[in-house]
Amino acid sequence: MISFLNLKSLNSVMNEELLSACKRVVESGWYIAGNELLEFETAFADYCGTKHCIGVANGLDALTLTLRAWKELGKLKEGDEVIVPANTYIASVLAITENRLVPVLVEPDPQSYNLSPDAVRKAITSKTKAILPVHLYGQLADMPAILSIAEEHGLLVLEDSAQGHGASIGGRKAGSWGNASGFSFYPGKNLGALGDGGAITTNDDELAQTLLALRNYGSHERYKNIYQGVNSRLDEIQAAVLSVKLRYLDEHTRQRKAISNAYLKGITHKEIVLPLASSIDAELFESHVWHLFVVRSKHRDALQAHLTACGVQTLIHYPIPPSKQQAYPQFYEHSYPVAELIHKEVLSLPISPVMTEAEVIAVIDACNSFTVSDL
Ligand SMILES: *Cc1c(COP(=O)(O)O)cnc(C)c1O
Repeated sequence: MISFLNLKSLNSVMNEELLSACKRVVESGWYIAGNELLEFETAFADYCGTKHCIGVANGLDALTLTLRAWKELGKLKEGDEVIVPANTYIASVLAITENRLVPVLVEPDPQSYNLSPDAVRKAITSKTKAILPVHLYGQLADMPAILSIAEEHGLLVLEDSAQGHGASIGGRKAGSWGNASGFSFYPGKNLGALGDGGAITTNDDELAQTLLALRNYGSHERYKNIYQGVNSRLDEIQAAVLSVKLRYLDEHTRQRKAISNAYLKGITHKEIVLPLASSIDAELFESHVWHLFVVRSKHRDALQAHLTACGVQTLIHYPIPPSKQQAYPQFYEHSYPVAELIHKEVLSLPISPVMTEAEVIAVIDACNSFTVSDL
């Protein structure tokens, strides 16, 4: 079986360095909020091109705490509307509702699967206070257009960069476009820890200070609490692991791009729709870091069964849109035809940076051998 993402062989590339990072932490006797965290935060801020990076426990907390910080700073209040893509992972929406803000789901561009700036404009009301673009599947959202809308209407921008580590346009990386950005270091992300992890990047000093307190019980100084904060920490072992893995990120991204290019050239089946450049700007496509290689087919379930029979593991990102989730009955009365169609048709092909050439060819052949009799 060609696995969807082989984390064991991916991490074994840097086995020695990971073990020695862990050993260093074990032997240091210091496990929370120490030098490993500071070093990783500095390196990751530097990588993204931002002034600050604040490590937290996971990607959901990174988004939730940023919105929370803006509430503490008086920039958002309960009931304010936040524009978010209708086809994102549920965490983007959870971060909004956890803060008692109102998510306004907006249909994606059907080619890039990312927020459509025109649809964002149409969704703006007097209550809109923020936009939460998601760099879905590893492709930057149309940030130049989104930033200009935000500027025009005085809106905050929080990037969900959980799938976009290192994606850039004109040298400006994911994480450095919005007023802030949330990252996830879940093991399967392009920069993944050996457990949970997350971070916020920003150039805003006041926001960074507020986040430092919020992640630490609302406290800058021990036993003095200015906010009703939470405990959301990126611990020393994960920070040490992430510092190692960050050094491999660009190389892994190059390997992901090479696999994607082979898929784009090799898969020629007419029932399989390949990822396309954004209809707005081909440069956005260049920025793709290929967290996922997502194809579409009207016969998605049959295609998935065929690929499984050929020994190719695939996944669906995502089978149920936020608007159809039991957790959010308020969306049931609305219709999101583009997002719903995407959820019915998408299928993610294997894309481990460590895949062999033979495996890549086997995936291409399996796709091209999908026949009508499989339907
Ligand atoms: C993974 C992911 C998250 C959440 O990250 P966790 O670390 O799992 O909490 C948020 N948004 C998107 C788009 C994601 O893919």
